[in-house]
Amino acid sequence: MCGAGISGLTVAGQLASNGWEVTLLEAAPERRTQGYMIDFFGPGFDAAEKIGLLDRLRKLHYPISEARFIRPNGRSRSVGYGIVAANEGGKLLSLMRQDLELALFELLPDNVDLRFSSAVVAVEDRTDYVTAVLADGSRISGDVVVAADGIHSAVRHSVFGDQQSFERQLGMHTCAYTFDSPRLHAMLGDALVSTDVRDRMVGLYALRDGSVALFAAHRVDDPALPADSREAIREAYAGLGADIDEALAKCPDPEKLYYDQVAQIELPVWSRGRVVFAGDACQAVSLLAGQGASLAIAGGVLLAEKLVSDSEPSAAFAEYEEEWMPVVAEKQLAGRRAANGFLPHTAFQLWMRRAALAVIHTPVLGKFVTSSITGTKALK
Ligand SMILES: Cc1cc2nc3c(=O)[nH]c(=O)nc-3n(C[C@H](O)[C@H](O)[C@H](O)COP(=O)(O)OP(=O)(O)OC[C@H]3O[C@@H](n4cnc5c(N)ncnc54)[C@H](O)[C@@H]3O)c2cc1C
Repeated sequence: MCGAGISGLTVAGQLASNGWEVTLLEAAPERRTQGYMIDFFGPGFDAAEKIGLLDRLRKLHYPISEARFIRPNGRSRSVGYGIVAANEGGKLLSLMRQDLELALFELLPDNVDLRFSSAVVAVEDRTDYVTAVLADGSRISGDVVVAADGIHSAVRHSVFGDQQSFERQLGMHTCAYTFDSPRLHAMLGDALVSTDVRDRMVGLYALRDGSVALFAAHRVDDPALPADSREAIREAYAGLGADIDEALAKCPDPEKLYYDQVAQIELPVWSRGRVVFAGDACQAVSLLAGQGASLAIAGGVLLAEKLVSDSEPSAAFAEYEEEWMPVVAEKQLAGRRAANGFLPHTAFQLWMRRAALAVIHTPVLGKFVTSSITGTKALK
């Protein structure tokens, strides 16, 4: 297994609890603690229940009461989170990404050989076995490599070459970090407060440990990542008011924050030989679809089920791809369609989003608006 993120932990846990011998290789030196708030709903919700994760997630979730959108003139519109959750049949939890990862770590059976500081740089596929080559030159062989090493997957590069042909850049960058501000923490309470302007958004929410979390996204002309992410953040979100200015002044060093492109991965096949891909490495839907973690868990559970029940890896891979690829393609399309609602570019798009938020509390239209926010089917 390559990558101990949401997807890798899910697959490793399920395979090990079915008697598989699993080595889980993670590039980071320890469990990662950076993250952002995710709305956990969709297929992963049911999969989490199936593997016994849900009770723990219910304890770790943040009971967000409302999302408040604030305009530059100070006027605001609040959307009760209960409405969004109700329109998802009550199956929605707001979680910090690192808490979701923590819950998956806790569920990991003792027999998983988890190795940090173990970056996989290449895989060599033989007929009867496959070998993962690590950055320090060491090699580990096994029956199957599950590549769950995220959106910038090194294994994908090793197996399929040219990365760019599989990436669909969506013209945005995103970032997240936490900082201390007793004043903002008290002001936020249990609300998620977001700016309401064109081309960029900044959201703030209070965390249990007394800190404040920032999550932001902005449109870019060039998808290339900046040399200095902190400088890029300060430039992109300047002029959005005193509260945001305070948050920007407290932006930490680049290595302590999350900054990345907003992109989708469209891989025409998800396996080759004894290597199979899972999670963002093959199916990134982007934050616009808001279900990447959910799909990483659901897809991971499905892949593990297929591997456990089929005697040949190739048969398991084929069934996994056949069942799961169409689900992901649909979510990716929904994500792209949500782009202008998430970050309106024109004055008309901004007006449309405000109009949509105004009707979210009405029974029928509210369901349509929620579905366009969450990327699920309206009026199921
Ligand atoms: C800002 C933002 C908001 C989001 N909001 C939501 C949301 O509301 N709801 C939702 O469901 N999803 C959301 N997502 C998506 C979600 O976070 C991802 O889709 C999900 O984390 C993917 O899980 P993964 O395990 O595939 O990849 P990751 O979580 O990225 O894990 C990959 C792991 O592989 C490791 N790794 C990388 N390279 C190597 C290597 N060469 N060798 C070994 N290990 C390696 C990494 O260190 C990492 O631990 C959001 C994403 C972003 C960026």
